[in-house]
Amino acid sequence: MENVKGKVVAITGASSGIGEAIARHLASLGAKVVLGARRTAKLEVIANSILENGGEAVYTSLDVTQPDNVKAFVEYAIDKYDTLDVFVNNAGLMPLSMINNYKIAEWHQMIDVNVKGVLHGIAAALPVFESKDSGQFVNITSVGDRWVGPTSTVYSATKFAVRAISDGLRQEVSRNIRVALVAPGATESELPNTISDPELKKMAIESFRKDTIPGLAIAKAVAFAIAQPTDVDVNELVVRPTAQKAY
Ligand code: NDP
Repeated sequence: MENVKGKVVAITGASSGIGEAIARHLASLGAKVVLGARRTAKLEVIANSILENGGEAVYTSLDVTQPDNVKAFVEYAIDKYDTLDVFVNNAGLMPLSMINNYKIAEWHQMIDVNVKGVLHGIAAALPVFESKDSGQFVNITSVGDRWVGPTSTVYSATKFAVRAISDGLRQEVSRNIRVALVAPGATESELPNTISDPELKKMAIESFRKDTIPGLAIAKAVAFAIAQPTDVDVNELVVRPTAQKAY
């Protein structure tokens, strides 16, 4: 695909679900992908499979809650492929719960990964983009970046925050740096496993996650944003299952 081939793309949370699908799809279009997550055994399998299919991929351990670790992730990408063109802030978790269950550790975890993790990604990659006056962020939010309902209060708050951060960043950076936000609806992944309440997890899978789309649908939206000419900044793409009507 035009403007994707040859680009160096770092992806956080590439060990499963949407991040894995983004890595596989962009590699199939000729991008050089740099995979980061905590489960390196999974990253190894995905990277090897990309290599076997003729693509280019490297991987390294990444915890987005640690700013120095995210900086090292960007340095690793540059060490391997000499530059960085796109940084995909994808790592996230969704332990839904009612506020009055007081799952305070889970609130902290969501804020640490979903919000601070994105800020750490920006802090690591923006200096590189500024030094070459080009580059692109793709931030994976959720339909929950514009919708909130019972049990999604804190999760939606983290995604509302990333939407605000994305739009502020877009306005602050130079005219040659792009910022895209891709907001998925229910998508096949391991995300429901982060819901600690078994009843709520069952309900999520049987009701609002009944209809899901494959990660490839989100990966194609990411590729679309990257593929535009450098003077075209796709700022927001919302991609839902057609049957997902209420949120
Ligand atoms: P998965 O659970 O399949 O993937 C989440 C990824 O995040 C994993 O690769 C995980 O890797 C990584 N991750 C979690 N914590 C950390 C951390 N501290 N440091 C680095 N990586 C971390 O779910 P999805 O693919 O669905 O989630 C990807 C993104 O998509 C999230 O931001 C999610 O909010 C968003 N999203 C998903 C939707 C869906 O229906 N699937 C809908 C809307 C948005 P590891 O555990 O190996 O570190």
